[in-house]
Amino acid sequence: TEDILRVNRLSTRFFTQEGQVNAVDDLDLRIERGEVFGIVGESGSGKSVTARSIVDLIESPGEITDGTIRFNDAELAAAVREDHPGAVDGDFVDLRAVPERLRRSLRGTSFSMIFQDPESSFNPSLTVGEQLAEAVEVQRRASATPRSTRARTKSSEYSLGNFVLSAMLPSRRYVSEESRERAIELLELVGIPDPVERADEYPHEYSGGMLQRAMIAQALAGEPDVLIADEPTTALDVTIQAQILDLLDDLQRETGMTILLITHNLGVVARMCDRVGVMYAGEIVERGTLADVFDDRVHPYTEGLLGSIPDLEGVRGRLDPIPGNVPSLLDAEMGDRCHFADRCPKAMADCLEHPPEYPAAGSEHHQARCVLAEMEYDPARALPEGYF
Ligand code: SF4
Ligand code: MG
Repeated sequence: TEDILRVNRLSTRFFTQEGQVNAVDDLDLRIERGEVFGIVGESGSGKSVTARSIVDLIESPGEITDGTIRFNDAELAAAVREDHPGAVDGDFVDLRAVPERLRRSLRGTSFSMIFQDPESSFNPSLTVGEQLAEAVEVQRRASATPRSTRARTKSSEYSLGNFVLSAMLPSRRYVSEESRERAIELLELVGIPDPVERADEYPHEYSGGMLQRAMIAQALAGEPDVLIADEPTTALDVTIQAQILDLLDDLQRETGMTILLITHNLGVVARMCDRVGVMYAGEIVERGTLADVFDDRVHPYTEGLLGSIPDLEGVRGRLDPIPGNVPSLLDAEMGDRCHFADRCPKAMADCLEHPPEYPAAGSEHHQARCVLAEMEYDPARALPEGYF
């Protein structure tokens, strides 16, 4: 399998009155084409900021300050090679090194995003069918334009993406019969019963689970290569949650799209993902296949998370098993040490000297950002209680 996305040394900071918050700190991530990759962590660990950084949805006072986000797309690479040679490496294009208008034109067709809260993706005063048809139309117009042209054209003429689409477009009926039919097909695809009738209903007439399905339909309108799902089932009750996960699973299998799934729920990871990255304090602290991370974990944070989950088959609640809080991520307070050191039951003198990079832990794909990947825990080197 080949990589579809490579994120290297990504840092996203928020410049607040209290100081600089390192929400994503020097993060590396590699996602294979056609896989479901999970990012799991407590709230405040930087999962959503990571996802939003990838699709360029960071707003002031936030800013991506460093790193590359390389997307594997031969057509795109060919289109930008001439004007932005520095952005292209083989078939990979560094999305941070191309103009914003080009990045934005990839929304919906290359990347789509779904969120926890489907209401935010729909305009309450238009029917669901109209909004899906609009998404279809916009993506169709974007796809009809060669990327080489898109690279040189003002973004306002093309896709705004599914993110803000329906909220920003003026009220209108169906653009064309074709797009109406496609909207109904999309509703059917995501398992909405009586799609012809439901297309004419407004968002408030949908249940939470149905609206979640409709949001997925909207995200699929442009047949994206990568679907980023940020806590897509967190707001739903357990039965509906299971149905939505089944739907995503089926859609992934049918379309072969890549899914980046952001969740705090290890049950969801166990059920859905091929590989997983455990995120803590702006970093991915351990990553690998499900078996690597669940059965052969190295990092004490992963250990703490999993220690609280007796039954991996069940869909369990929130993660907060480890004493202490996720650190504030303020630059001044973090320093160079391991970010987990003040909560880590195995913290040693070694953990203060070098910020651990990613040494291999077992296999090429299994990596942990922890000194224990390379040395045994030595109680003689333990930091005294109350050190921090
Ligand atoms: Fe704990 Fe040290 Fe590993 Fe950090 S590097 S998680 S402090 S053992
Ligand atoms: Mg979040």
